[in-house]
Amino acid sequence: MPMNVQSISSLPDKINQIRLLTAEIINKEILPNENKLWRVRRDGDVSDEEKQVSRELRRDIREKVKQAGLWAPHLPEEYGGCGLSFLEHAYMNEVLAYAMGAASLFGVVAPNSGNQKILLKYGTEEQRKKWLVPLTEGKMQSGFSMTEPDSAGSDPRSIKTTARREGDEWVINGHKWFTSNGIAADFLIVMCRTDDPDGPAERNGKMTQIIVPTDTPGLEVVRGIEVWGRASDHAEIIYDNVRVPLENQLGQTGSGHAAAQDRLGAGRVYHCMNSVGQMWRAFDLMVERASTREVHGGLLRDKQFIQGFIADSYIDIQASRLMTIHCAEQMESGADARTDISALKIFVPEAYSRVVDRAIQVWGAAGVSGDLPLATMYQGARTLRLADGPDEVHKILIAKNVLKHHGSVGSWDFGN
Ligand SMILES: Cc1cc2nc3c(=O)[nH]c(=O)nc-3n(C[C@H](O)[C@H](O)[C@H](O)COP(=O)(O)OP(=O)(O)OC[C@H]3O[C@@H](n4cnc5c(N)ncnc54)[C@H](O)[C@@H]3O)c2cc1C
Repeated sequence: MPMNVQSISSLPDKINQIRLLTAEIINKEILPNENKLWRVRRDGDVSDEEKQVSRELRRDIREKVKQAGLWAPHLPEEYGGCGLSFLEHAYMNEVLAYAMGAASLFGVVAPNSGNQKILLKYGTEEQRKKWLVPLTEGKMQSGFSMTEPDSAGSDPRSIKTTARREGDEWVINGHKWFTSNGIAADFLIVMCRTDDPDGPAERNGKMTQIIVPTDTPGLEVVRGIEVWGRASDHAEIIYDNVRVPLENQLGQTGSGHAAAQDRLGAGRVYHCMNSVGQMWRAFDLMVERASTREVHGGLLRDKQFIQGFIADSYIDIQASRLMTIHCAEQMESGADARTDISALKIFVPEAYSRVVDRAIQVWGAAGVSGDLPLATMYQGARTLRLADGPDEVHKILIAKNVLKHHGSVGSWDFGN
């Protein structure tokens, strides 16, 4: 079923134009080809001819995206993107995410997109030329290497990986895992503890991000970790006396924690708008099936259990969408949106799980099969509840901010 996207009267023409153009590519180019595009990645037994067809299709679609002026929405034009504002990009994402894997066809796929933003904000001109430009052109791949098996990812300041300054080099030692894209990556942005006597003394100031090419001696990709029963490119990596030049440091010594927060804050809003797009798809699939499947002498759509699923899912999607847009508006205006980011990072993945769960139920056995995108969505929704900060950490943050506000300003202003 094609996605139904119409202009929204309260939005500027530019955003409507972006959404309509994006929907046109989704409906005409990606949805009819979804199986051909991604079966190659999903299934092992694919012929060389099928692989070739899939490669060519992806290349053609990317070309059409570029011609439509929609390539790399998160980057400014001078670095190969189409220079959308935060809000414009958020509105585009809900449309983009309707089709599985479409983000990579629009040049905005994690973890490359997060690395691009960090290189843009913290990188020197030299670093941008060397790493950002080839990343945007698709000539390089990258990963972000922060989480470790032996320390809590929920408390990133507890990391043990160290970078020691020796002459004009950083020497890195540590053990990371779940570095997404770690196998394909040409370089990784590695979060290190830099106990530099010249660096800042406070706890956050001990973290520095350093660019490490993956062919540097001492860097060993141990394995792609199996996730949800399938091989993955979320890599476990050992850094054993890995030496890189000091100029590979990103930003000031000690700016790593702030850079990670920048990356994750914006990323969470984009993830949630993506989740809205995927819920929208799951919802359409559910309604479509309910309208055609006959059970016990009638269509599913006429059964009240199923009408309940439809109504609850509608509520989940509208609530998620409005929360995410409100937060994106806050961020666009420069307001402190941290409480709202945490709230939606909890609410939206849970709502996404519920909507997909209902869609699977309506589809019966087909719902968990590889013929539909629902099983993949279900796993993605569940994973999102712990990646980029688990729910509990965000709840702690919301309560902390509300209580602090209550103590100093008073009542929380929900209108802003
Ligand atoms: C598919 C996938 C891709 C990922 N990609 C990347 C990547 O590219 N780069 C990267 O660096 N990392 C990545 N991660 C790692 C991810 O960010 C971490 O898993 C996440 O931050 C949680 O850290 P942890 O796994 O160490 O869990 P822990 O920190 O050990 O937490 C475990 C659980 O403890 C509970 N908990 C935590 N704190 C509290 C508290 N204060 N009170 C009560 N309960 C609490 C929560 O339920 C939490 O789920 C990825 C993870 C997944 C699953």
